[in-house]
Amino acid sequence: MAKIKKKGKLYYSLQAFSSVPLLILGLVIMIFSFKTVQNAMYGQVHTELQNMTDMLISSYDMLYPGDYTLQGDVGYRLFKGEQDITSDYSVIDKFHENTGVEFTVFYEDTRILTTIRDEQGQRIVGTGANAKVMQEVFYGGSSRFYTNTTINNVHYFAYYAPLCNSDGTIVGMIYAGMPCAQVNRTVKATIFPILIISLCSIVVVCLVSSSYTRKILAALHKIRTFLAQIAAGNLNATLGQDVLSRNDELSEIGISALSMQRSLRNLLEQDTLTGLSNRRFGDQKLSEAQSQLMEKDVPYVLCIGDIDYFKSVNDTYGHECGDEVLKAVGKIMKKEMHGSGCVARWGGEEFLLIYEGATLSEAKAEAEAMLSRIRELKVPYEDNEVCITMTLGLAQASADIDINDLLKEADLMLYKGKKAGRNCVISE
Ligand code: GH3
Ligand code: MG
Ligand code: MG
Repeated sequence: MAKIKKKGKLYYSLQAFSSVPLLILGLVIMIFSFKTVQNAMYGQVHTELQNMTDMLISSYDMLYPGDYTLQGDVGYRLFKGEQDITSDYSVIDKFHENTGVEFTVFYEDTRILTTIRDEQGQRIVGTGANAKVMQEVFYGGSSRFYTNTTINNVHYFAYYAPLCNSDGTIVGMIYAGMPCAQVNRTVKATIFPILIISLCSIVVVCLVSSSYTRKILAALHKIRTFLAQIAAGNLNATLGQDVLSRNDELSEIGISALSMQRSLRNLLEQDTLTGLSNRRFGDQKLSEAQSQLMEKDVPYVLCIGDIDYFKSVNDTYGHECGDEVLKAVGKIMKKEMHGSGCVARWGGEEFLLIYEGATLSEAKAEAEAMLSRIRELKVPYEDNEVCITMTLGLAQASADIDINDLLKEADLMLYKGKKAGRNCVISE
């Protein structure tokens, strides 16, 4: 039989179909959840910065009522109402201290007050605003949130709101900014457990699915091997109990394969008329009995039985009646041989019997008992009851007699019985 590959096409396609879609799905979920968390975080930062900017503007209005004005001839100073706030960092520093957010107050495009410091620790006052921001916030007049603004080489999430006087004129801007690195750290800290849980779930699901697939494939492989053995003529091939007890379609296939094996074996080993084993199987059993004798010293007695004057049954009642008699005799023999050995139809009205583990006298006693049952047999056929007798010849097997000689000896005993008047058991 050609060697059956354990990993065929189905192995790879099932493994792929059970894992690849899961991996893709997992990847999509991971990217989607990362983006969702990121957007939610950005939205939150936007709201927070907006609220703080509004609060800062309100605080200045409450503390120093009045408009923002630039006063002075040479060194300009920024006033809020009556208060010179040019170097008054107390308000924005307090906000910065409480929130960790950087603040800047612009007059037009110039930083007048800021919490942002350079590498030397100096506040970067006097520097100008980004042209795009000026365009959109200062001239455009609307608040804006930017996800990547670079100030002094640091990237910020920035919120700019226009600073208005009581008549509505825009005189400057308020900036609130959070370093991107800080926000991204929070995003990563939030997303990390989600990613780990998703990853673990995908791995677990993949492992479960892969192990299930492997079990299915293992069962398929066993069924395939079993069928290949039958196809190669091995009718004694066995199929594992693990496949048969699966309780699914695969176990059903396995059970059908076993039934097929049984049917094939019956076709090959059974005599269709009597239901007894046929000559082929009888031969096989004889060889097995001889092997048991040679290897394990298990004795056996061979017997050949032949129905007496069977031709006259056919001649008197017809062939069909002869068949009925053969069936009835076969039934008795099967019953009588149960537990003693095996019986096969050797051909025509001849039968082969093997008394396993028996001595000649034991086998003879059993054969006599069987003959008594056969003598009592009355086969009903049409209006008649057909009775028959039988002659049996016995031979004790031994290690120095081969099977053919043993068969000849049993035949000789049968011949002796026929000569002696039939309807008897002869063993010597
Ligand atoms: P003996 O006592 O010497 O054995 O006589 P016998 O008539 O039994 O022996 P013989 O060999 O002369 O005849 C055997 C007959 O068995 C001949 C044959 O037609 C018949 N026979 C063989 N096989 C079958 C079968 O399958 N069905 C029927 N009905 N008859 C069969
Ligand atoms: Mg005969
Ligand atoms: Mg006969």
